[in-house]
Amino acid sequence: MSSPHRPITGRIVIATHNSGKLVEMRELLAPYGVEAVSAGELGLGEPEETGDTFQANARIKAVAAAEAAQLPAFADDSGIVVHGLDGAPGIYSARWAGPTKDFAMAMAQIERLLQERGAVTADKRTAHFVSALCVAWPDGHVEEVEARVDGTLVWPPRGTAGFGYDPMFLPEGHDRTFGEMTSIEKHGLPPLGLGLSHRARAFVKLAEICLEQR
Ligand code: IMP
Repeated sequence: MSSPHRPITGRIVIATHNSGKLVEMRELLAPYGVEAVSAGELGLGEPEETGDTFQANARIKAVAAAEAAQLPAFADDSGIVVHGLDGAPGIYSARWAGPTKDFAMAMAQIERLLQERGAVTADKRTAHFVSALCVAWPDGHVEEVEARVDGTLVWPPRGTAGFGYDPMFLPEGHDRTFGEMTSIEKHGLPPLGLGLSHRARAFVKLAEICLEQR
């Protein structure tokens, strides 16, 4: 028999040093009365992401932060999986942008590789974003969820909203890229929607098992 899910209450460490993600996660957790402190604020280090899946890397980050802070810790790992490129960049999505976080370059690299493979029609340009979330407690308990959003890659990139690969990603059933959407549209969270982005969908799953609406 599987163990019961553990509720998230009180204070939680957000195991990220990425300020964009921190803002987004604080927004997501606030309605549940969960206070989020960042790993940066607590002076915690960043573990090496040595896993070979999104879920493994989310767990490495959450477990390290929970042990160091002696508080429950929340981590995510995410990226874009391009089907015509055998799943690249996948867990290396951040790394493809290099130390200067140049996502224009990373998107151009994906486009170049797709062109080399003759992927010019939409059916050959499918991709999905993945978000793996993990909450770890200092006693070793973990809760994990994963979700994805499917779409196609457009060229040239469109829109200046969002971050990362957003301007290239056209989610299924929509005619604007994530880069052309407001963050409310992109995430499509309840009560306005049922979750559109991979992170929102993963978060909805986590909320179902571990969070109580205030
Ligand atoms: P990590 O989860 O910090 O390892 O980095 C994931 C990388 O995937 C980010 O740096 C982005 O490049 C990309 N990524 C993840 N989620 C999104 C998204 O919602 N929009 C655009 N790019 C994303």
